[in-house]
Amino acid sequence: MEPLWAKDITYLKRVGPQRAKALQQECGIYTYEDLLYYFPRKYVDRSRVSRIRDIRDESYVTLVGKITHIELVRSRKGRGRLVADFTDGTGFLELNWFQGIKWIQKSLKVGEEIAIFGKPSRYGSKWQLSHPEIDRLRQEEGAKHTLNIVPFYPSTEKLSRLGLDARGFRAIMYHLLEEAGRLIPENLSPAIRSHYRLMDRPEAMRQIHFPDSYRHLQAAQRRLKFEEFFFFQLMLARRRTNTRIHHRSHPFTHIGRYFNDFFAHHLPFELTKAQKRVLKEIRKDLSQPVQMNRLVQGDVGSGKTMVAFMSMLMAKDNGFQSALMAPTAILAEQHYKKISRHAQKLGMQVGLLVGGQKKADRSEVLEGLQNGQLDIAIGTHALIEEPVQFQRLGLVVVDEQHKFGVMQRARLFQKADPFPHNLIMTATPIPRTLAMTLYGDVDVSVIDELPPGRKPIKTLVFGESKRLEVFGFIRKELQAGRQAYVVYPLVEESEKLDLLAAVKGHELLEKHFHDFRVGIVHGKMQPDAKEFEMQRFINRETHILVSTTVIEVGVDVPNANIILIENAERFGLSQLHQLRGRVGRGQQQAYCILMKGYKLSQDGKKRLTAMRETTDGFKIAEYDLQLRGPGDFLGTRQSGIPQFQLANLAEDQGILLEARQAAFDLNEADPRLNLPENQPIRSFYRRYGKRYAGISTVA
Ligand code: ADP
Ligand code: MG
Repeated sequence: MEPLWAKDITYLKRVGPQRAKALQQECGIYTYEDLLYYFPRKYVDRSRVSRIRDIRDESYVTLVGKITHIELVRSRKGRGRLVADFTDGTGFLELNWFQGIKWIQKSLKVGEEIAIFGKPSRYGSKWQLSHPEIDRLRQEEGAKHTLNIVPFYPSTEKLSRLGLDARGFRAIMYHLLEEAGRLIPENLSPAIRSHYRLMDRPEAMRQIHFPDSYRHLQAAQRRLKFEEFFFFQLMLARRRTNTRIHHRSHPFTHIGRYFNDFFAHHLPFELTKAQKRVLKEIRKDLSQPVQMNRLVQGDVGSGKTMVAFMSMLMAKDNGFQSALMAPTAILAEQHYKKISRHAQKLGMQVGLLVGGQKKADRSEVLEGLQNGQLDIAIGTHALIEEPVQFQRLGLVVVDEQHKFGVMQRARLFQKADPFPHNLIMTATPIPRTLAMTLYGDVDVSVIDELPPGRKPIKTLVFGESKRLEVFGFIRKELQAGRQAYVVYPLVEESEKLDLLAAVKGHELLEKHFHDFRVGIVHGKMQPDAKEFEMQRFINRETHILVSTTVIEVGVDVPNANIILIENAERFGLSQLHQLRGRVGRGQQQAYCILMKGYKLSQDGKKRLTAMRETTDGFKIAEYDLQLRGPGDFLGTRQSGIPQFQLANLAEDQGILLEARQAAFDLNEADPRLNLPENQPIRSFYRRYGKRYAGISTVA
């Protein structure tokens, strides 16, 4: 950008050292450019001028006219009031001031044309207006406060005291655009601007601060949001190109006997269309000499494990080993059992690596992986610990990827040269827009179909008054041999209290269900103790499992057909959906019972209703994103989301799609940004690419 934009804000007209210091401290505004990016918080329409004659009620009006008379009126108590008569030619109005009188008296002149804005009130047969906002139209900047759609800038007490309230900000913004507005550089190419019908940048900046109309404002916002998305997507596109150049993998060139044999003779069911489609997508990736980075999203129970296993068969057919990493030992063991069963039929060998294994077992697995006797390794983090060596690792599958750090996986990658292909499976559906930003350089496959014949889970919402009936219902199911989860919310700020709730709840349930066994797991337990309790539930030694949200991660107990969630309104939608997915894995009709507290927020109500109305994880995720916004949706621990200033991932999906298209097309056509018409993009990207450098996406 021009050096002008790096200019210290102190030198802008109407700023000076004192205000500059406050702007720095309060808003982080140091330069002209920082101020340019300080966008209005809201706009008020003062473009319509009313006539005094037409005033009927006490709604806000903008009037243009002049003062005919000013007078200071003293009451008996000595307090003063400034009274002025104002006319616009259609009638008279009395203006009153009780404060700041001296200053107003000095600045108002009889006969000068002014615009006023305020809320009139009736006084006898006359209308009057107290403390109107006044704009002197003959002053150069006056028109920026009125007779327009007027911007309001976020201010602080300190800034207001220095005169930088909404009006003060408007004034300096006006001077900024006066002085430098024409020099705002364009940063998109003419081709992109015309193809996506985008306003040019200087105009967009002017319009976003001082819009000529709502239509102009909208066009300006669209243009600037596009720009935000565009440069972010360009970074992703370039990163992807880079990955493709540097992350080489072995191509799996053929489908051979393992895959075909399994497909023809051992597949226990027909694959769903979605499973087939995703397998095809994986197949295509794997045949390339470039590392696959594919995320498979599929609701709970959509059959991701089978897709993963069949991908491992492709690896085997090409002489490669595979690894499957799960977030907990229990999950790893579950995968191990299922996958071993299939693998056995093909004469393939599977090893399990989890913490706390017997030394002998462990070294046997380690040896088998190193000498190539084992085809598949399944495990937890234990898999990526140093001594684990593979003979020929070709494919890494990560299940429930949200529970892993990117670094952990990166370490696993290094266990093979070149890199193994990478398949990530998640049951937390992420709306398309988020996937595109978070996983912008990862390909996404979606299993959007459940195997046939599943009975949809029944979701019921109850208040406290129905508790005994609910317990009665659970008792019947237990008597019929089923099991139930009871979940208590765990909110980080009050972990202790919530733990207490779970422990108390456990006691209560033990009393009420004294003829059944009730177990408990919570986050404060040692991993061993937790596993032990989980195992007891899996083995049906306990009938009810009380827990805080630790069971969220995909345990599979097909015999459990009820999940009761206490204070359900305190959970996020996606979390509720995840919890619900713990049941409905067996033949029996499954139930999700949401117990609601007495005090329900508006959002809480919406969440419970959404849960009752849909079982589609993607719909729920979209809705959740809209309710909570991207930051909360992903949880505070996910630092991967970029902070867009204007653009909103939940609301601006259409713009995101366009910007992404534009960025990826450009990256294809001119990957090094060498063409003359792309120079504005290049120079902006150079400077602003840094802004995004810290953002870790899954690459
Ligand atoms: P998730 O996607 O939650 O990991 P799983 O892979 O555990 O789901 O599959 C859930 C259950 O559905 C398993 O018992 C699995 O054997 C079964 N399953 C998977 N695919 C199909 C299919 N196409 N038809 C019938 N059952 C299937
Ligand atoms: Mg699974």
